[in-house]
Amino acid sequence: MGTVHLVEPPEYDGNPCFMCLMAAKQHQWDLYNEPIEAGLAKPDSEVTWIPWPAKPPVIREGSWRGVPGDAPELGVCEGLCWDHLAGYKPVRVSTLADGKGVPPGLLRGRG
Ligand SMILES: [Zn+2]
Repeated sequence: MGTVHLVEPPEYDGNPCFMCLMAAKQHQWDLYNEPIEAGLAKPDSEVTWIPWPAKPPVIREGSWRGVPGDAPELGVCEGLCWDHLAGYKPVRVSTLADGKGVPPGLLRGRG
């Protein structure tokens, strides 16, 4: 199996959003899938370099802390751009707030 390296993005002046970087790498992977597979199929000693795309997705400044909207399972993260920061719409949960409908034992003196 050959070795395949993907060329990194050009130097970025600032703190790039890690979700933008992940999207850009996925774009690179998808765009050059055939040469990547061909490089992997080569003999062990052969190395293939995959170029950085000529028109990559935009990589924005990652200056926000919060939950990434595309991957909320990651939890609160540092270094997100405004596009990748999840929105939030608060919803009042009246069941716990007013004590009605709470199972016995969860409120002192009740149940
Ligand atoms: Zn981003």
